[in-house]
Amino acid sequence: MDSTWINAPAKINLGLDVIRKREDGYHEVKMIMQSIRLFDRLTLTKSKTPGIRLTTNLSFLPVNEDNLVYKSAKLLMDEFGITDGLDIRLDKRIPVAAGMAGGSTDAASCMLAMNRLFDLRLSAKKLMKRGVQLGADIPYCIMKGTALSEGIGELLTPLPNAPDCYVLIAKPVSHISTKFVYSNLKLDEHTVHPDIDTMIDCIRKNDLRRLCENMGNLLETVTIPAHPEIEVIKQTMLENGALGSLMSGSGPTVFGIFDDADKAKAAKEVCRALPYRCFVFVTDFYR
Ligand code: ATP
Repeated sequence: MDSTWINAPAKINLGLDVIRKREDGYHEVKMIMQSIRLFDRLTLTKSKTPGIRLTTNLSFLPVNEDNLVYKSAKLLMDEFGITDGLDIRLDKRIPVAAGMAGGSTDAASCMLAMNRLFDLRLSAKKLMKRGVQLGADIPYCIMKGTALSEGIGELLTPLPNAPDCYVLIAKPVSHISTKFVYSNLKLDEHTVHPDIDTMIDCIRKNDLRRLCENMGNLLETVTIPAHPEIEVIKQTMLENGALGSLMSGSGPTVFGIFDDADKAKAAKEVCRALPYRCFVFVTDFYR
């Protein structure tokens, strides 16, 4: 095999709680991760010219060691002494810096594709062990589906599939720094935490309505005051038939959960008309 391709799915957080700040400065989280059918596409081709060459459709993205795809490819090439060259084409559709783990899923998919292309025979567990060296979300992006993520994001428990539904994604142009969000997060005895355990119970019982009622993201307490448009988008989705609406990750992406495709499509048009230049998209969960 000289060439292979792979789809890298985005994720949303159905729930995101921060438990505490550890002594080493990292935050301990408890998150429900869910893959969605919104994909970047990676095409990997062996080449006789040594080295890694990355190209992408987004001119502002780095194509050197600053790109997580390049980093993940280099990690495996160095470890396994791969002397062939590698051409990687990255076609991005997942919005960048959006809270949908775009870079992490690209890195995870690059490792999965290289495992196949170079016949490395690494199990998913072994790929995850290597992936976590580059980013805490990469092991989840290798696992995909519905999962509980704990620790700093590296402790994963697969969950049953979340109930079927339609997902409206709306990402305003707002720029949000994840570092700003975590460094301004207040954790004390007054903090109201989302109830992740109840959400897990709803997933196990396939109860979409109760799941939506319990969705919560603690990072909204920092991001929304700084970017009130996120609250407007959430309310717009709820007023237009969403069973629940939440910010994903540290933002600015907002998603709404619908039990009806037509309602989701109609809400998409309303969100598109808001003055925040939103990328809007209706999709569903990726199993
Ligand atoms: P998360 O949800 O994990 O916080 P995100 O969706 O907010 O991630 P990314 O899309 O991964 O953020 O991009 C964050 C930064 O990482 C960007 O500023 C970008 O320059 C850099 N980056 C490196 N590699 C990639 C990649 N393959 N795709 C997108 N961004 C990348």
